[in-house]
Amino acid sequence: MAKRKFEDDDEDKSNRIKKFTKKSVHYGDVTVFYFQRVQSFCCIPSLAGVALGLSSRHIYSEQCKINDEFRTFEREPLPSKVRQKLLRLAGVKKWKKSELKIARDIRISRLNCGCSCGEYCFPQTCSCCLNGIGCQVDEGTFPCSCRPNCCLNAQGRLEYSGTKIARHRTETLARVQANMES
Ligand SMILES: [Zn+2]
Ligand SMILES: [Zn+2]
Ligand SMILES: [Zn+2]
Repeated sequence: MAKRKFEDDDEDKSNRIKKFTKKSVHYGDVTVFYFQRVQSFCCIPSLAGVALGLSSRHIYSEQCKINDEFRTFEREPLPSKVRQKLLRLAGVKKWKKSELKIARDIRISRLNCGCSCGEYCFPQTCSCCLNGIGCQVDEGTFPCSCRPNCCLNAQGRLEYSGTKIARHRTETLARVQANMES
């Protein structure tokens, strides 16, 4: 009898381990916090005008059920007039005008980046290389204008590729899906 009990215990333990090691993700309720809209002093709008921010403490919160499907939103930069209107609707009547000048100066300074070597970068003259950073091409000839196989920057050259990012995303999601099903 003692042996039989031992076997039962062993089987129970094995089932418990299987239950806890089953790979699956479950979501419970989520708490959503709401904040007052205020003028921001820590971000630079890509378009001109006042920056939008949130108050440091939330004004209320609520419990919600989370959908299994996560939604993602494409965000476009808001025109200056729309941001001003949103602030007024939130009760912000005045904002610090001096911030607008600071933001504008920073926005302009951000355009002044990358090297201006043309198609070819040479280590002796390329400003990226001389500053110890790699060349970067996000779109067309911005910020660096060098072309693939023409850049001799020892720090390297990176070119943004939407196709590569989309492929990486598809492969990663497929791998995660396969892991969850195994
Ligand atoms: Zn260069
Ligand atoms: Zn460069
Ligand atoms: Zn380069």
